[in-house]
Amino acid sequence: MSLYKKQIEQLVALQQIDHEIFGIRQEIKKLPEEVADMEKQFSVIDAERNRIADKMEYLTSQEKRVNSDIEHDSRRIEESKNRMMQVENTREYHAMIREVDNMERTNRTREEEKMILMEEIQRQQDLFADVDARYNQVKAEYDLKSESMQSRLDELNAELDKLMERRAASAMEVPPPVLSRYEFIRERLENPVIVPVASCVCKGCNIAIPPQIFIELQKIQQILSCPNCQRLIYWEEHFDAVNFYSRQKAVEQPELDPEDDDEEE
Ligand SMILES: [Zn+2]
Repeated sequence: MSLYKKQIEQLVALQQIDHEIFGIRQEIKKLPEEVADMEKQFSVIDAERNRIADKMEYLTSQEKRVNSDIEHDSRRIEESKNRMMQVENTREYHAMIREVDNMERTNRTREEEKMILMEEIQRQQDLFADVDARYNQVKAEYDLKSESMQSRLDELNAELDKLMERRAASAMEVPPPVLSRYEFIRERLENPVIVPVASCVCKGCNIAIPPQIFIELQKIQQILSCPNCQRLIYWEEHFDAVNFYSRQKAVEQPELDPEDDDEEE
């Protein structure tokens, strides 16, 4: 095997581990963000639920006040009517009739107010039932997610530790100048660092490379970079990509096919 072919193979092996590390780091970063998002969602619905509960409490106290006013004036009307029987003075009698009329009119207005209040309470109760169902659902999801977050993070960190060990071993295989070129790019670019070129197209940026570079690439006399994205490139036909990758993956995740990632476009 040519020297460069060997180096590319070593770099792709390293890349494969870095790809897994990248995925795990993304998940470690995403998980607390997801929990924070759910917390925000939960606090919005919690505030709405409290707002409706407060409104219901206010309306209920209003209803209670109207009821007690109605009851109070009904008693007074009753008493006035009883007293009217004993009144002999006509002027006093008419004054009492007016008073009773007034109280009855006020109570009719209160009855109307009471009806409106009862309708509004019913409406708020329906709203509350609706929000409460959503509240319970969001709360259950949030509780589950936040409870399981720490154990999932522990799992991911343990996986990451193992991968870092594998990475150190894999990096040892790569000649230092080649490795530093790889690391230089890795510090500046999003994953991946080394990518295949298929039908003249760089699989890192999906842009065609110039024919001259493609010809050079096929010779494998050096490790070339994509002129567009600067990633290290190799001609995919120099490697049986699927077998090549699965040989790397066989160590820990034999069921996964890494070629599924963004390679299809
Ligand atoms: Zn590129």
